[in-house]
Amino acid sequence: MRVLITGGYGFIGSFVAERFYQEGCEVSILDDLSTGNPDHIDFKHHKYILSIEDPNCEELFRNGRFEVVVHLAAQVSVAASVEDPGLDTRTNVLGLTQMLNLSRKYGVRKFIMASSAAVYGMNERFPLTEQEACEPVSPYGISKWVGERYCRKWQELYGLETLCLRFSNVYGPRQQSSGEGGVVSVFLENAMSGKPLPVYGDGTQFRDFIYVRDVADAIFRAASSTLTGIYNLSTGQASSVNDLISCLERLHGPLTVQRKEKRQGDIEKSLLDNRAIRRDLDWAPRYELAEGLALTYEWTAQRQAAADREEAAEEKKKRPPSRFRQWLHKCLPYAENLGLFAITVYLSGAFADSSYEFLDFKLFYILILGMVHGNRQAITAVILSSALFTWEQLNNGRELISLMYDTEYFFQIAIYLFIGLVVGYTVERKLALISSLKSQLLDGAEKYEFLHGVYQETRRVKEELQQQILNNGDSFGKIYAVTKNLESLEPEKILASTVSVVESILKSDSVTIYTVNKYGSYLRLAARSNGEPFDAPKSLKVEEYPFIQEMLTNKQLYVNKRLQPGTPLLAAPVQSGGQVLAVIALHRMPFENFTLYYQNLFKVTVELVSSALSRALSYVEATASQRYLEDTLILKPEVFKEILDSKRLARDRHGVEYALLTPVDSRPGHDFAELSRVISRSLRETDYIGLSPDGKLLLLLSNSTREEADFVARRLSQSGVEMAFVNEELPYVG
Ligand code: NAD
Repeated sequence: MRVLITGGYGFIGSFVAERFYQEGCEVSILDDLSTGNPDHIDFKHHKYILSIEDPNCEELFRNGRFEVVVHLAAQVSVAASVEDPGLDTRTNVLGLTQMLNLSRKYGVRKFIMASSAAVYGMNERFPLTEQEACEPVSPYGISKWVGERYCRKWQELYGLETLCLRFSNVYGPRQQSSGEGGVVSVFLENAMSGKPLPVYGDGTQFRDFIYVRDVADAIFRAASSTLTGIYNLSTGQASSVNDLISCLERLHGPLTVQRKEKRQGDIEKSLLDNRAIRRDLDWAPRYELAEGLALTYEWTAQRQAAADREEAAEEKKKRPPSRFRQWLHKCLPYAENLGLFAITVYLSGAFADSSYEFLDFKLFYILILGMVHGNRQAITAVILSSALFTWEQLNNGRELISLMYDTEYFFQIAIYLFIGLVVGYTVERKLALISSLKSQLLDGAEKYEFLHGVYQETRRVKEELQQQILNNGDSFGKIYAVTKNLESLEPEKILASTVSVVESILKSDSVTIYTVNKYGSYLRLAARSNGEPFDAPKSLKVEEYPFIQEMLTNKQLYVNKRLQPGTPLLAAPVQSGGQVLAVIALHRMPFENFTLYYQNLFKVTVELVSSALSRALSYVEATASQRYLEDTLILKPEVFKEILDSKRLARDRHGVEYALLTPVDSRPGHDFAELSRVISRSLRETDYIGLSPDGKLLLLLSNSTREEADFVARRLSQSGVEMAFVNEELPYVG
């Protein structure tokens, strides 16, 4: 099952998603993360971070082909709904109507909406059944109540199965302490952090607490059921706030309670009757309050412990390093610098009078410092090296004054300075470049992850489309294969089989085929579906039906967009050589089939059928001399037998009646030519006169009941030809 869960990263949504996933369903989640958290879900699913009001949701429905939508996304805070009713209405009403609309547009089978006990408002006829009056007191309650009306309307208008579940107070792991039903999570959080539990009033007020897994279970069952309408989803058990505190004390130990004044507008009591959903869904809550609370307590304790650990680590990270560490951090490069300088002094002294005298260790010292620490230490190294060089010069007996005029001395100092600056500057630039590359790399990794996600999603959609095309019952190849069944040259057989072909391709049980007379003034019913009865006149006078006139003139598909009664919903002409020979029509179809796709499918089918029909008709024309007795309208026995066989087939398959008559005075050798001329004056184009193998004249009235045949017989009797009905068990027909 493909299911879309709106608000799937929220408290209830995450459990619902998990339940569907565990049952092997393909789960998609639509959530704007306003209160949800994607970390709640750790299994494979399709993730759409979008608001339910966003027009881009259409893309999601177009590609997702969801069977079920579980609509949980909502503005869930009663207080926020009072403060900002606009936001509440946008999310809970406009968001909902967009989800409903897209669901019916893209063929969703079932839409389940999370409603709330808030719709009952202050109604205190406990336990409240679904039939009780709804008197919501908050904008939140009103928007949920309005949402229920919308769901009902969409079911009435479009046949979308909708189910609204009025949740009582849901509790369990992952619940935030704000929003509806938050009393359990507020109490647990306060208990864990040693704060008093706030109780408004004397604590005797009661609620109907239901564990979140019971809610998820009911939603999952409902998705596969045919249940529609409005149901309470609750335990049907009242638990007071004092009961809740006692339960918590059994888990946690003694708790302190802070009594507060009753809050204005609070719905103090709530208890929903759950007998209807128990009966109709075969569902019952499995978690007692004590058990559900113990599980929630355990989860909250674990989360608290994890949060404490994280906070401690964060704290440690945030804590400024001690003064000593700060001082050490600052001084370390200088210490390193001094250490290396000491080594340089030593090496310069040690190699002063040796064959390595030419080596200038001060240059190495500047180079190393510049390369490791950048500019600042390089300049320090330059200063120290210059001092050491000056000291060496003085030590070698040079006067300070003479050094001031020595260009070589200054040249050496300039070299130190140059090396220090160049190396220090270059390294600093390199370090800056490395850090910018590092951040680019991080960005790139994020981009890669995002694009990889998009790529995977695109591949999935592509594969699905491929599968769809391969398996599609409507693919051109399949339609062609079905219409190949029309490889017959007998128009009668083709008419009968065409009904089956059109029924099977368009999945319809209300197909008719009308043949057009040669003047284009009348249409006669030649074949029809035999399923549920539907209204299809036996003959249609073209001038009385503008849609037929239009179709015969334009030779185009007709779509009954205004749903005019007594007119087919779709009709298309069957043409040959620019002339309309017949009309194929569909009289009933589900509303969702009013699509361009379905119209095209109908058109293609009719076009394929047209070629078979026209071939058969040209054959009839070309072989007229082989079909009729010379100079008569009487069909030869073998031709007549074939037509009769196909009429029998049409009657058995599609319930199209026919009648078989014979002139009372019909002996072989009689002047059949004259007789047939008299008879043919009273006949329609779709009736036949033929011979039986033993030479008797037979009259076949297509698409006629016994009464209609009686009427024809009476007319012929007035023309002097007495007719009798033929026993169907004639030996030659078998
Ligand atoms: P929640 O806040 O945990 O979940 C709501 C989810 O919807 C969140 O993930 C949020 O990010 C998402 N969301 C909100 N606005 C959205 C928008 N415009 N577009 C897309 N996503 C959006 O709340 P919850 O308690 O899990 O409630 C779930 C549903 O159940 C809600 O419809 C709520 O009204 C209903 N409900 C809850 C309780 C209860 O006791 N928790 C009782 C009655 C009814």
